[in-house]
Amino acid sequence: PDISLGEFISSEFHQYLTVKKPLLDEDEVDEREKVINWLTKQHPYLNTIGSNQLNYLSVQGWNSFERLSNDHQTTYIQNGFINLLEKVFVSKINKNKIELNTIVKQISIDEQQQYVNITMLKNNNQQLLVYQAKHVVCTQSLGCLKQSMHEMFIPPLPYPKQVSIQKLGFGTINKIFLVFSQPFWDVDFERFHFLWNTNRSNTEWKLKCFMNTPYDSQWCKSISSFYVHHRLSNVLVTEISGENSKYIEQIPDELLLVGFQELLCHFYPDNESPIAKQIIRSQWYNQTFIHGSHTFIRIGSHIHDIKQLAMPCTNAKSAEPLILFAGEGTHERFYGTAHGAYLSGIREAKRIIQLYTS
Ligand SMILES: Cc1cc2nc3c(=O)[nH]c(=O)nc-3n(C[C@H](O)[C@H](O)[C@H](O)COP(=O)(O)OP(=O)(O)OC[C@H]3O[C@@H](n4cnc5c(N)ncnc54)[C@H](O)[C@@H]3O)c2cc1C
Repeated sequence: PDISLGEFISSEFHQYLTVKKPLLDEDEVDEREKVINWLTKQHPYLNTIGSNQLNYLSVQGWNSFERLSNDHQTTYIQNGFINLLEKVFVSKINKNKIELNTIVKQISIDEQQQYVNITMLKNNNQQLLVYQAKHVVCTQSLGCLKQSMHEMFIPPLPYPKQVSIQKLGFGTINKIFLVFSQPFWDVDFERFHFLWNTNRSNTEWKLKCFMNTPYDSQWCKSISSFYVHHRLSNVLVTEISGENSKYIEQIPDELLLVGFQELLCHFYPDNESPIAKQIIRSQWYNQTFIHGSHTFIRIGSHIHDIKQLAMPCTNAKSAEPLILFAGEGTHERFYGTAHGAYLSGIREAKRIIQLYTS
């Protein structure tokens, strides 16, 4: 049976502790527990899928995910990811063929199953457009499918596909940039890590500045490190994943700024942290057209669910694909990645080309 990655790691750790405990004093055991807790939050897979809980992740799913040989390297794209899309793809497509700022509201298969109707809203929802197509490739995120599949597709998606959409996980990772007037940290610092206590007194630890506010401060336990921005030496960056990542999206910037100051002072008392002058952050969960960041194989789901998501809806008579599915969540080895999204688009384009060439 499948178990979670978290259960697997903690059972291995407890076996290790059983052997080592007679040789260690209480503080040494405590230290090791803190490090394991930190390691489970730092696990590189968590950042790949936008979860903060190894307990949600299927071991089988983790094994099915393929890492690239240069996985540990970070490649920075000048002027951001949008620039890559512009240069490599969009510039090669006739602009008249792209409907920008247009929301797809409904995708319906015609009764005779000859074509697909796509109903769209344009110009700030003022203009209704309907396209007819022989084939439609849908690439909205799994987060969007979870939210809107029942209203979007007529007739409803096949039941096994609906179940897979519900079962698979769609995580959220957010990046937070704190801009300071000047660095307050030591010049040779590239990254600092937070070792959170795992004992009870720590679970009750709260940010003082959050008292008398409607917000809880447990989210800060998901912050496990800060690093100095690769180009801007006065900017600290952190990442937060999972439920706590969704939670802090609703907290106002002003409160987060003081919260981060208190957190940095707590872990780095030697160099008293000033309040950052600006906070810049993503809020992927509350973005209507993504609702999160990455697909992952949640405990209870399976690689078959990714394959199921990728299956086209076909014409009942001719078995020709009418509605096809691409996007990161449909790639069985590279789900959660830009290269997975790209390759899935090629896969579906080939499926259509084959139909007309074979
Ligand atoms: C913080 C962060 C860091 C990441 N880092 C990496 C990394 O280092 N390496 C890596 O490989 N991947 C990374 N990823 C993941 C990668 O960005 C995604 O997997 C990839 O962009 C997914 O592409 P996609 O085409 O499947 O989906 P998307 O990029 O989500 O595209 C779907 C499009 O559909 C549109 N859409 C949705 N609903 C509708 C609708 N109803 N009508 C009209 N349009 C609609 C959306 O606006 C969107 O433009 C990262 C993601 C995040 C959030």
